Amino acid sequence: MSQRNERTDGHRTGGQSRARAQPQAQRPPGAGMSGAYDVVIVGGGAAGLSAALVLARARRTVAVVDGGAPRNAPAEHLHGFVSRDGMPPADLLAAGVAEITNYGAELIDDVIVDADGSPDDYALRLRRGGSLRARRVLIATGLRDELPDLPGVRGRWGRDVLHCPYCHGYEVRDQPIGVLGGREAGAVARAVHLALLLPQWSQDVIFFPHTMTLSEHDRVRLDARGVRVLEGEVARFVVDDALRGVELTDGRAVRRTAMFVAPTFRANDALLVTLGCTFDDNGWVVTDPTGRTSAAGVWAAGNVADPAAQVISAAGAGSTAAIAINGDLVLADATARVG
Ligand SMILES: Cc1cc2nc3c(=O)[nH]c(=O)nc-3n(C[C@H](O)[C@H](O)[C@H](O)COP(=O)(O)OP(=O)(O)OC[C@H]3O[C@@H](n4cnc5c(N)ncnc54)[C@H](O)[C@@H]3O)c2cc1C
Repeated sequence: MSQRNERTDGHRTGGQSRARAQPQAQRPPGAGMSGAYDVVIVGGGAAGLSAALVLARARRTVAVVDGGAPRNAPAEHLHGFVSRDGMPPADLLAAGVAEITNYGAELIDDVIVDADGSPDDYALRLRRGGSLRARRVLIATGLRDELPDLPGVRGRWGRDVLHCPYCHGYEVRDQPIGVLGGREAGAVARAVHLALLLPQWSQDVIFFPHTMTLSEHDRVRLDARGVRVLEGEVARFVVDDALRGVELTDGRAVRRTAMFVAPTFRANDALLVTLGCTFDDNGWVVTDPTGRTSAAGVWAAGNVADPAAQVISAAGAGSTAAIAINGDLVLADATARVG
């Protein structure tokens, strides 16, 4: 972060930012001669920062607006990103911010609350006031994990209450692990799937169906994987300075040092709705393989478009979108010249 300048208006730019040579009164810092950025990226997680790096290196004027709440913030370390395995999530983002600002991209600590417009003329309204103009928009706003509403769950989320064995399964290998079922929308099948996966990491896995009814098919498959099933509604996760287990409503207590849950994923897609993007039957934005949405000039990348994206694949999606956006701008400008 040594190259980073923090400004009181929430804008951060690097030491070599082209923005700083621009007269501030005439246009926003970082925006081009028209007063519009080539690209405004909403969301500065792995997807947004990765896109910003590619676009800034393509000498595009770029602003990243970020609300500062990346999804994996509760976790102490991030895993499965080759060359970054075990790094604190905030360190990855700090390194990304240093890189993008060094190429002249701007990071604005704020939230975009509204957006409208059309290609070459998008307006994105900032919560703190004012708005940014952009030729193209990339939405990389991530998703929210809606957790089971049980005492003890939220406080241990990302530590020993987990959802992703690829992120944290190795860290709880060979431990007594539980998986919480339940009737929350979309979570039932994923809870069983999680329980089927987890014997890869521990031979001591108990599935708590909780409020859901297990099919005979699932029961047989869980048994085949060596997963025990403990019927009964869970009353709470037992926690002191760490997770100790679960307590059922009939008073039984079961020791577990890690519990996996299947949150309901809610995309932070309000801006995509506002911008008129098409959504599929499951409620996820429709994109082409580059992240291009049905709204001209609007792309989506990372968890907002793909709930399965890990940090590395969210970063990859951001890079892919950035390359497509730059190509789109080049073609638009060439077409405008030849008519
Ligand atoms: C507890 C936990 C642990 C995890 N561990 C791992 C792991 O070890 N390895 C791994 O690969 N994956 C892990 N993941 C998954 C990982 O978090 C995601 O893959 C990754 O965060 C997706 O990146 P993203 O850029 O799409 O979204 P995010 O990282 O969530 O970034 C989105 C950003 O957009 C901002 N934003 C949202 N709306 C607005 C708005 N309107 N205006 C401005 N900014 C906005 C948010 O504040 C946020 O900073 C974990 C997830 C959780 C929940």
